[in-house]
Amino acid sequence: MADTMRGMRLGGQSLESDKGVELSERQRVDFRCAKNHEFSVVFSLTAELPTTWECKSCDAVAVRLEDGVEVDLAEENSDGPRTHYDMVLERRSREELEELLQEMLISMRKRRAEGRLSA
Ligand SMILES: [Zn+2]
Repeated sequence: MADTMRGMRLGGQSLESDKGVELSERQRVDFRCAKNHEFSVVFSLTAELPTTWECKSCDAVAVRLEDGVEVDLAEENSDGPRTHYDMVLERRSREELEELLQEMLISMRKRRAEGRLSA
């Protein structure tokens, strides 16, 4: 009887430890849409995080939050060392970029007002 009990326990232990190793680690990622709906999506730690996600409360596209601040979409999309946009910024004068900057400033101000103030 003693031998039977010991055999069962050993078998159970080896199964448990195998299962534990298989589990991948998870992380919770926060998103916020234009209507200020905030929600979290769980990803594997090794997953490539999307910059945007469909809002769970409405039809808007939500932007990923890092430390409570929406990520910079232009920056996030540049996985490579240089983006086309970076090169345009470098080659043109500030005057030529005025119109483009105006659009960016509006969205940046909106983002700052919603998120953390930098000044
Ligand atoms: Zn929403």
